[in-house]
Amino acid sequence: MRRKIVAGNWKMNGSLKSNEALLDALKKASIPNNVDVIIFPPYPYLIQAQMNLQSSAIKAGAQNLSISEGGAFTGEIAGNMIKDIGCNYVLVGHSERRTLYGETSAIVAQKTAAAITQQLTPVLCIGETLAEREAEQTQNVLTEQLQAVIEHCGIEIFSKLIIAYEPVWAIGTGKTASPEQAQAVHAFIRCFIAKSDAKIAALVQVLYGGSVKASSAKALFEMPDIDGGLVGGAALDATEFTAIISAAS
Ligand code: PEP
Repeated sequence: MRRKIVAGNWKMNGSLKSNEALLDALKKASIPNNVDVIIFPPYPYLIQAQMNLQSSAIKAGAQNLSISEGGAFTGEIAGNMIKDIGCNYVLVGHSERRTLYGETSAIVAQKTAAAITQQLTPVLCIGETLAEREAEQTQNVLTEQLQAVIEHCGIEIFSKLIIAYEPVWAIGTGKTASPEQAQAVHAFIRCFIAKSDAKIAALVQVLYGGSVKASSAKALFEMPDIDGGLVGGAALDATEFTAIISAAS
């Protein structure tokens, strides 16, 4: 039985003051027993979230990490620093990192390995663009993104990470994949992993991300291969995010 996860990606949003209000509101929410909740604030606010959430079931993680362990890498953040402040999760390969910052699947695979080395749980984001979907390349794109991780890290790593399927055309656009569209891709992802290891494929949690709202969450989360959501915009609104958490119960 896979637990549900609702994760909130705050992207480059927030301030000390607005975060405090959001965190306080989230802490008041009742978290269903079968749901894990993780938020991903920007780096400067990670310790704020981590400290604020100490007595809460909600966890905090980082949005990115370096492939390097430390040293002369200006502007980078090492996995051991994320671990050092008590966080256990990190996003890798978010589509904004892939498209805006040139992260190739090979780099994402190295970041996945770097996270595991520091005993962080990576949330490995994968997904196709609209042009790729329209060209019926979705499965090929996902295969390439997953294969890079398998080749660099080995299939066993999929027992230590979470996958987030995020169709790029649905991120921040207000266009959510229908539950059936998302389920079809989630089933493909699970089948693809099962070709290498059926046991790992049955256990790996695969989240859906892309304009998830309280109104769309329940139908998505009821699909057999959807184990929760990675939420962007709606994670900045306590009422909306709390309702999405409830929809996962
Ligand atoms: C995301 O940033 O991972 C995301 C899914 O964003 P949104 O929910 O705003 O589409």
